[in-house]
Amino acid sequence: MKYISTRGGIAPISFKQAVMMGLATDGGLLLPTSIPEIPTETLAHWRQLSYSELATAVLSLFIDDIPTDDLRGLVDKSYRTFNHPEITPLVKQGDCYILELFHGPTLAFKDVALQFLGNVFEYLLKESGGKMNILGATSGDTGSAAIYGVRGKERINIFILHPHKRVSPIQELQMTTVTDANVFNLAVRGTFDDGQAIVKTIFNDLDFKEKHQLGAVNSINWARIVAQVVYYIYAALKVTEREGVPQVDFSVPTGNFGDIFAGYVARRMLPQQIRNLILATNENNLLTRFVLNGDYSLGPVAQTSSPSMDIQVASNFERYLYYLNGEDADRTRQDMDRFGASGSLQFDELAQERVRTDFSSRSVNEEQTITTIRDFYTQHGYVLDPHTAVGVQAGLRDRKQGVPMICLATAHPAKFGAAVKSAIGHEPELPPSLAGLADQETRCEVIAAEVEAVQAFVEQHAL
Ligand SMILES: *Cc1c(COP(=O)(O)O)cnc(C)c1O
Repeated sequence: MKYISTRGGIAPISFKQAVMMGLATDGGLLLPTSIPEIPTETLAHWRQLSYSELATAVLSLFIDDIPTDDLRGLVDKSYRTFNHPEITPLVKQGDCYILELFHGPTLAFKDVALQFLGNVFEYLLKESGGKMNILGATSGDTGSAAIYGVRGKERINIFILHPHKRVSPIQELQMTTVTDANVFNLAVRGTFDDGQAIVKTIFNDLDFKEKHQLGAVNSINWARIVAQVVYYIYAALKVTEREGVPQVDFSVPTGNFGDIFAGYVARRMLPQQIRNLILATNENNLLTRFVLNGDYSLGPVAQTSSPSMDIQVASNFERYLYYLNGEDADRTRQDMDRFGASGSLQFDELAQERVRTDFSSRSVNEEQTITTIRDFYTQHGYVLDPHTAVGVQAGLRDRKQGVPMICLATAHPAKFGAAVKSAIGHEPELPPSLAGLADQETRCEVIAAEVEAVQAFVEQHAL
């Protein structure tokens, strides 16, 4: 399988090259040249597989330059860190299936992709004799998943900036209790935006970037998307079998268009088994406006109880745009240039019709999110985290008789205890991995919100 850029500016490359490239060098995003539709006989076989076996089977369709045995080893290693034998278990609660994606080391769905990406990076760097210094800024959640993805790995150091004393105590501890020698937590005396601006400036220093082989772990790496495709297929096969029905729907709380794009790929692979994909947004409803009205234009970022979806620029949107444009890279590049200049894209009626056959969408406000957590708890005794609640609310409203609804649960409720408490009156029970954090040793450097200070620190501690 070869990979191309949504903007058409690179010659086709292999999977390995695509993983190491991350963002395409022409500014676009990388995509496989084709998405295979899976024959029925293969699906019959896939139904028998464990999660890790299925992951190896799905991934090997997109990765033909890593030997299957090695790939299987990377997959097994990635999901051994999960604390549930089914990796992503399904639990039926009333009218929906909850697909629990939060059994990884940091209790959020990003572990599914980042555990795999970390192992792939280590494998490829060992092969090439290279090294990588990962630099990123977090508002709290992604940082820990990235840190856990590469902790203790050879040839990789990771530097994660978080705003000093502005992340929740649990989020801070999840990062700072990782004391592996290759992990550097930097608490910046400033805001998340300060941290992000510093990282951006440092990445723009091309000499520095080259010298230290700086790498990023944002959600645009193709390896992350393809690792997420697996749980859609896993869940669709399990639920169609259990319910004795041909099709399922998915409701997906999304911000960056990453998770929902993985669903789009899964549906192209299983068009008969996956019917509708519901794109659920919080009050930051850019993507809902796009699906419902063909209006993709930036607004201000609203702070909500589902902060990992408080996003305006959806970094994976361009991947879908490429397909919407009939795989026309020139047009996609022009669209993205126009969006860069004006912050807005408008889609005509024809395009809108096509979008609405690919997705339906709902935006769920703060009050509805909290009410959903409360009602779901009252009715089923099951605690949803606020991100999951956004998806559940959208899913329950768009249900079709006879088609099971699978709602993606993207975080463990204990990670968002305050919001949950405001809904049900008490904090959710802490799972053992969080309960023990407060007693553990921590390591963290408090640093000024200045490019020079961070750059000097990286210089000093880079591999
Ligand atoms: C990142 C994140 C999301 C949104 O994922 P996208 O890839 O942006 O769709 C949803 N919920 C949680 C808990 C997250 O961390």
